[in-house]
Amino acid sequence: MNYAISSKALYTQVYQALLPAIQQDRECQAITQRLLGHYFQLNSISIALDEPIHLSLTQNNLLLAAIERLSHQEPIQYVLGITPFLGRDFRVTPAVLIPRPETEALVQYIIDHHPQGGKRVLDIGTGSGCIAITLQQELSQAIVHALEVDPEALQVAQENAKKLGAMVHFIQADILHEPLPAQKWDIIVSNPPYVRIAEQKHMQRRVLAHEPAKALFVPDEQPLLFYQRIVALAPYHLVLAGKLYLEINEVFGQVVASLLIGAGFERVCVVKDLHGKDRWVVGTFERERNSIHKHICL
Ligand code: GLN
Repeated sequence: MNYAISSKALYTQVYQALLPAIQQDRECQAITQRLLGHYFQLNSISIALDEPIHLSLTQNNLLLAAIERLSHQEPIQYVLGITPFLGRDFRVTPAVLIPRPETEALVQYIIDHHPQGGKRVLDIGTGSGCIAITLQQELSQAIVHALEVDPEALQVAQENAKKLGAMVHFIQADILHEPLPAQKWDIIVSNPPYVRIAEQKHMQRRVLAHEPAKALFVPDEQPLLFYQRIVALAPYHLVLAGKLYLEINEVFGQVVASLLIGAGFERVCVVKDLHGKDRWVVGTFERERNSIHKHICL
């Protein structure tokens, strides 16, 4: 049975139900709009015009269940099971990190720097698959491999590739303890775990309670664990003039850049994100051509 309800009234009811848990007005507004958009295809204009909506019992129950989960600080992306990444919708579950705007910007940066097609790409620690899948679809004729240690995350990435029609070769492997497949790529990209346990005290409860710790954290005494391993392997798996793109913890820009230089990378750049924080390190592997000339561009 359907019953009609004013969309403004529904908006207010949902907003008020969420506010005690969400606390901040702006965020509560954004989450309310996202919920109503997802379940009822309402946007801010239809709400402002107070368009009536027809609420079925099933929809009502879905909405109540979502409000309940959000009240327990569960991220909206997990509650809806979906999040946008550079214009595509990716399924996300608590097995995978929710893609961040910084990672979208890194992928856009890679797309902008590779207008010519036919690249072979490796994504290390693919999670939801957002980097690998987007690059496969945006770089023309790219051949993309994606590595992931966690079987549940790998399943989510595979579902996303299938849903979005992306041909990505997924490999379950532990980058820290296993070798890479014996082949070379033009581009290696990774957004590995890089948050130190000591940084937890500055993080939102929602992230700590719900996102996968093993995709986020590294031990305080080994903050560069993944970078050391990737930078050690990359020279054997990049073609000449191949590129390495790494998302990083903002405090380690110079340190990760030095790792790349030490491994023979050239044109090593530390690139800042939208907030002016060091967020990516990029390098080109050219050692066999020129082993003397190196410079850092900042
Ligand atoms: N940028 C993520 C965060 O802010 C961390 C991503 C990662 O560890 N690779 O929580």
